[in-house]
Amino acid sequence: MKVYRIKELLSKGREALHEEVIVKGWVRSFRSNQFISLNDGSGQNNLQIVIDYNNFDNETLKQITTASAIRIDGIVSESKGAGQEIEVIAAKIKIYGYANPDDVQETILQPKRHSLEKLREQAHLRFRTNTFAAVMRVRNALSFAVHQYFNKNGFFYINTPIITGSDAEGAGEMFTVTNLDLNDLPRDNDGIVDFSQDFFGKKTNLTVSGQLEAEAAAMGLGKVYTFGPTFRAENSNTTRHLAEFWMIEPEVAFYDLEKDIDLAEDFLKYCIQYAVDNCKEDLDFLNKRFEEEQKQKPKEEKSEHNLHEKLEFVLKNKFIRLSYTEAIDILKNSKPNQKGKFKYPIEEWGADLQSEHERYLVEKHFKTPVVLFDYPAKIKAFYMRLNDDGKTVRAMDVLFPGIGEIIGGSQREERPEILKQKMRELNINEEELWWYLDTRKFGTVPHAGFGLGLERLVQFVTGMGNIRDVIPFPRTPNNAEF
Ligand code: ATP
Ligand code: MN
Repeated sequence: MKVYRIKELLSKGREALHEEVIVKGWVRSFRSNQFISLNDGSGQNNLQIVIDYNNFDNETLKQITTASAIRIDGIVSESKGAGQEIEVIAAKIKIYGYANPDDVQETILQPKRHSLEKLREQAHLRFRTNTFAAVMRVRNALSFAVHQYFNKNGFFYINTPIITGSDAEGAGEMFTVTNLDLNDLPRDNDGIVDFSQDFFGKKTNLTVSGQLEAEAAAMGLGKVYTFGPTFRAENSNTTRHLAEFWMIEPEVAFYDLEKDIDLAEDFLKYCIQYAVDNCKEDLDFLNKRFEEEQKQKPKEEKSEHNLHEKLEFVLKNKFIRLSYTEAIDILKNSKPNQKGKFKYPIEEWGADLQSEHERYLVEKHFKTPVVLFDYPAKIKAFYMRLNDDGKTVRAMDVLFPGIGEIIGGSQREERPEILKQKMRELNINEEELWWYLDTRKFGTVPHAGFGLGLERLVQFVTGMGNIRDVIPFPRTPNNAEF
């Protein structure tokens, strides 16, 4: 007798008729003492199990409750019910774990609609819900696509440190890592904490980006990427920020900014296409969910496209490439700006773009993904390559509908003198980053890379509005439960 996962058995369909099979899963519902709807997490669809209750003792039947875990040995037969080709007629039932209906009543396992907020409060149980399980399977597919894309294209996967000794990266606020006794901190004469007595003999933090180390790796391996946890102590309670997220950072020697943007576009499309090709069932389900959610929204917030159309649209169209300067002109003359509708009005060149501006460009003006490049040096990080105009740098951001910034990248400053000058201007300690400067000393080359937050990509592909619903156990301000 073969043990099947439910997805595999359902996709075999009529070919499996009369086969003796074993399936194991959790009961979603048990109707009329006769029909069990069984799910094992392998896919969106449940398997129907049919029971002749005369063949089983009452003790067993009583334990088949919503959420309980069971094993069925049975025979595949043609289903008379609508919407399914096959079902399994149970010959043997084993109860692994009983779930008391009174307890289930209190949880999100109770089969009815629950809000996403409620699901978050029971994050440990939400893997059993249709929505979250679908999101997790899509997340898995996207992660796999990331590795597959880079592997096919000659990149090497490298792991950069999670505990870092540099706090100069500037990508965001950092979490300190220490094993000093917080109730009895060693201090110098000025009362400043003496980290030389800490575990690493210096102050250390959780990484906000693996980029600087990835650059060092690219200077030997040529094409590399990181894919790991990233931490930012930003106190921003938005639907697009987590304190702990998973970032993908390719870094390529001999690439300029144009090549970097080509890579970003090709890579994003590959990953999205992979999900479209491999997650059909889950995306159909999420699309229905998305459409229902849209119905509840006020007219001006409604999306013109459903989820499938949104994905197809991105796959089919070339991303618009636009300089920051051109973007500022468009924004300055835009209706919302002229009518005072932006929270942060655009007055002059040099302004940092807020998410309302990015979303105007993508959702209202161009209605397609947009790549902005050549940003003012003043609003970007120290390592970005200075343009000949002396005031802009070779930075790029990829902006997506509904998300805003999904990727941030740049061509890096490979010229040691200009890099050092910039570090001096920004008071970045050269001694601390001696190793980074070394990469410009021994065979420096033009190079470029970018960072993609996996969760923002999962948000886009699944249509989920809140980033907390696309990662198993979200870490946000005032929340580290589970
Ligand atoms: P934002 O402006 O949205 O805060 P950022 O400019 O700080 O992002 P980068 O430092 O450029 O972000 O990081 C690269 C990518 O990492 C971003 O494009 C985004 O996809 C992702 N990212 C950044 N911060 C977060 C966060 N707090 N939570 C989830 N993803 C993030
Ligand atoms: Mn950015």
